[in-house]
Amino acid sequence: MAEKSLIVIGAGLAGLATGCYAQMNGYRTRILEQHTRPGGVCTAWKRKGYTIDGCIHWLMGATPGSPYHQLYREVGALEGNQLLPLDRLARFLDEASGRHIDVTADLDRLAADMKAISPRDERAINELLEGVRAFREFKLQVDVAAELMGPLDRLAQMWHRRRWLKYLVSYNSPVSVFAARLHSPFLRWVLSNVFTPEAPMLFVLVLLAQLAEGQLASVEGGSLAFALAVARRFQELGEPGFQVVENSTLVKDSLIAGHVQATPGEGQGVRKAKRCILELDGPLLGSQLGDLSAQEGRNAFLKHWISKATLDVLTVQIHRDAKTAMPRVSLGDPVQLGKVAV
Ligand SMILES: Cc1cc2nc3c(=O)[nH]c(=O)nc-3n(C[C@H](O)[C@H](O)[C@H](O)COP(=O)(O)OP(=O)(O)OC[C@H]3O[C@@H](n4cnc5c(N)ncnc54)[C@H](O)[C@@H]3O)c2cc1C
Repeated sequence: MAEKSLIVIGAGLAGLATGCYAQMNGYRTRILEQHTRPGGVCTAWKRKGYTIDGCIHWLMGATPGSPYHQLYREVGALEGNQLLPLDRLARFLDEASGRHIDVTADLDRLAADMKAISPRDERAINELLEGVRAFREFKLQVDVAAELMGPLDRLAQMWHRRRWLKYLVSYNSPVSVFAARLHSPFLRWVLSNVFTPEAPMLFVLVLLAQLAEGQLASVEGGSLAFALAVARRFQELGEPGFQVVENSTLVKDSLIAGHVQATPGEGQGVRKAKRCILELDGPLLGSQLGDLSAQEGRNAFLKHWISKATLDVLTVQIHRDAKTAMPRVSLGDPVQLGKVAV
């Protein structure tokens, strides 16, 4: 049987998790990472005696039994890392007036506190809380990737979501749209920053429902420990020589040239694999290929690599701002192209 091999570009959480599952499924996998350590934006650093944690404030699906928790476990993220349940998402404080509100897991208290701040907003507050309560029983699913779903999977998903259809339709607009209905500028500011003003309102409903269900947690060791635990699992699953590559020369020029070049002197020779997964998000890809939007970056990358790559299957993973489903392109027989190393 032909060897199954895979190159993953980018050792952020997505690339590391992909690497773990690929190894578990029999792919000899190498992750190429340009930075000296894995983790991507899930990281922390020291400065003037302080540790600055740059990423995880909360994780969803944090209790055993949730599919997210199972995923965290499978990729090793919980090895040595305790999840600490949150009963408060944040405290919002207006320094000038001293007014504050806690966004708590206790939804009755949250509603009462909001109404005490702005009685005129009672109707919108009730609507918001009704939406949050409705999502308390919503099950987060991670089992089938959207682009791998067949018609039956989609039907099953729609069936599961039928109770929430009205919310899925009505709250697909940005939080800022709902927030604009509030009379109180303070509550408008709070709601807009529970996550981001641009996020769909739906996401805030799910987030607050997760909080109310005790499903949000922080990571005791912080973001870097979380990412390094996944990197360790990837390395444990691999064979010698298939590890995270530090200081990969895979940078902008390599992407533009349409080939992957591993660090010189590493002694492993060129990297060859039948499949390559690019774990950079749209904006990052766009900026590396030029001053392009996420969508333009994706299109340029596909056009360039399809004409040059030696891969038989190329999957591009776009995490943010993608307007269409992730592309999965079959190129038929691999083509060898000059010094191209993938
Ligand atoms: C400030 C902040 C706070 C967040 N808070 C939370 C939170 O509380 N809860 C939560 O669930 N999520 C949170 N997230 C989101 C979550 O952390 C990210 O979605 C996730 O870590 C992204 O992982 P990634 O692998 O997709 O991307 P990245 O982490 O961006 O990884 C991409 C990797 O690719 C590498 N790379 C880039 N170009 C090349 C190249 N040419 N060659 C080789 N390697 C390359 C990069 O160095 C990087 O390591 C937060 C994100 C940020 C930024």
